[in-house]
Amino acid sequence: MRRANQLVVRILDELRALVVPGATTQEIDWRAEQLTRDAGAEPAFKGYRGFPYTICASLNEQVVHGFPSDRALVQGDILSIDMGVRLDGYYGDCAVTLAVGRIAPETARLLQITREALDYGIAQVQIGRRVSDIGHAVQAHVEAHGYSVVREFVGHGVGTRLHEEPQVPNYGLPGRGPRLAAGMVLAIEPMVNMGKAAVRVLRDGWTAVTVDGSLSAHFEHSVAVAATGPDILTLLPETNGTRPHVEHGTALDAISAVDPRL
Ligand code: MG
Repeated sequence: MRRANQLVVRILDELRALVVPGATTQEIDWRAEQLTRDAGAEPAFKGYRGFPYTICASLNEQVVHGFPSDRALVQGDILSIDMGVRLDGYYGDCAVTLAVGRIAPETARLLQITREALDYGIAQVQIGRRVSDIGHAVQAHVEAHGYSVVREFVGHGVGTRLHEEPQVPNYGLPGRGPRLAAGMVLAIEPMVNMGKAAVRVLRDGWTAVTVDGSLSAHFEHSVAVAATGPDILTLLPETNGTRPHVEHGTALDAISAVDPRL
């Protein structure tokens, strides 16, 4: 599990350099697939329920499951990249929202609060706590800052299948659902809208967008339940266990969003 997840986060880290004005998400998708196959792994999303690409590339008001395209990125965009791989029978899953060039301060704040919400959710990954404690912590942080948590898509267990039980919603009352036990691995992936929570899916059958057109951010980590607390499998070792910062409008962290399908 750690090897598969480390591969995903290393690829996402390489893709950051391609997230610049003028680049296209189609090019980023090609590179992601090349890096995946070069490592002896397979893209986890491509072909999953018919999803056609290696990455989900969700721009601006797109929440999750966006299709890579030939539309050039422009300064001020935010791009969520969600990616999974299968390596030696195990899945890794991680997502991050990145700034394209310099972004508005209010946009950077959306990314920051979403990353923090993921951190608060991860902090609940302790033996004996319950699954809904995670979503409760995420929701509390998001709503305290005036943003909305998406309900239609959720996090999930991950292992020898991309999506395993339990579902991990990003909202709800605490103290509900299965107890967390050592060895479980959960993909925790808050999707946070600047405006209202409602989303709809475009006619392509995949791309989820905010109904009110507001921006949306998505960060995801795959986290093992360990005796010592949360073991984030999708952290780069060079971060030394600390989380990267948002600097000059560039989100440097990996995140994910959860979709019951991805
Ligand atoms: Mg996921």
